[in-house]
Amino acid sequence: MSAHQHNHDKCIEDALDLAGEICAARDTRFTPLRRQVLELVWGGHNPVTAYELLDMLSKTGKKRVAPPTVYRALDFLIEEGFVHRLESLNAFVGCPDPESQHQGHFLICRDCRTVNEISDKKLAGQIAAAAKAQGYTCENSMLEIMGQCADCQSQ
Ligand SMILES: [Zn+2]
Ligand SMILES: [Zn+2]
Ligand SMILES: [Zn+2]
Repeated sequence: MSAHQHNHDKCIEDALDLAGEICAARDTRFTPLRRQVLELVWGGHNPVTAYELLDMLSKTGKKRVAPPTVYRALDFLIEEGFVHRLESLNAFVGCPDPESQHQGHFLICRDCRTVNEISDKKLAGQIAAAAKAQGYTCENSMLEIMGQCADCQSQ
């Protein structure tokens, strides 16, 4: 997906609708704050940091939001699979496919910081198989790949 040429409002709308449906099905609470944090994370396909989220929340909200409140909301969103934490950037990005269990393999653009997920079940299987061949048990097989996206290359 080109990050620069698509209807991103649709991305946000879809992500929020899906999260609402999943929470209803799992009987977990999609509180207004959790919803708002998810909406802010989905502000773009660029990862956002917890500080940026705090900043945006205090600008939109009537009262200041305490950091632990935001972290708790993020923990919930990660737990439910709506958001991924990118260790290399210490930032958060929305998951377009929260219904499937996965660790996430990410292509991060070093120039525009756009992040795209590769959803390839075979890739996860190959990593697990290679690890198993060494008698290793994977706990976290998230991949964060750094490079340049198609849009930035063509500029
Ligand atoms: Zn989008
Ligand atoms: Zn994902
Ligand atoms: Zn780029």
